[in-house]
Amino acid sequence: MTYELPDLPYEYDALEPHIDSRIMELHHDKHHQGYVDGANAALEALAEMRQNEEFSDIKSTKRALAFHLSGHVNHTIFWENMSPDGGGEPEGALVDQIEQDFGSYEAFKSEFSAAAGGVEGSGWALLLHDAAADQLIVGATENHQNQTPQATTPILALDVWEHAYYLQYENNRGEYVENFWNVVDWDDVANRFEQCHEKSI
Ligand code: MN
Repeated sequence: MTYELPDLPYEYDALEPHIDSRIMELHHDKHHQGYVDGANAALEALAEMRQNEEFSDIKSTKRALAFHLSGHVNHTIFWENMSPDGGGEPEGALVDQIEQDFGSYEAFKSEFSAAAGGVEGSGWALLLHDAAADQLIVGATENHQNQTPQATTPILALDVWEHAYYLQYENNRGEYVENFWNVVDWDDVANRFEQCHEKSI
């Protein structure tokens, strides 16, 4: 198998009370596993098409690969973006870039939270590094991948699919988003920013 489900970097209940243990268990073990399986299945289907030199299903298979692989990548980043020791505010080069691109940390937080609240149906709010301009932008992605600009890399991902919060927050997505800030691991976000920033120069 090309793609594998990574272990969570903490226990299921580590993010309580902000994110419930049962949500983490189902979200990681069932939903994320499903995207890993779907991405591997799409790769296998493509390999079979090459072998048979028969490409009539290529459109749906490429679509499935984009969906499932993006789901796998987004969730992997999302788990690592959170920590039981998270919260607070970004520091160093990351906060300098946030202030340059958004005006202030508070302004960034408002824009990101608004993007998360504005997702229609299932999707993600993402803080993206844009390699074309070496800047940070906020994205709001439908499903896992639609409307993601080319040349961008997510450095902070927030899942706003209902499976991410409904068991605990029911229809109060805004309350879930507000609590997310209490578990953000800014060191992880800063590491991701520095890697992207170096590649841009
Ligand atoms: Mn999810």
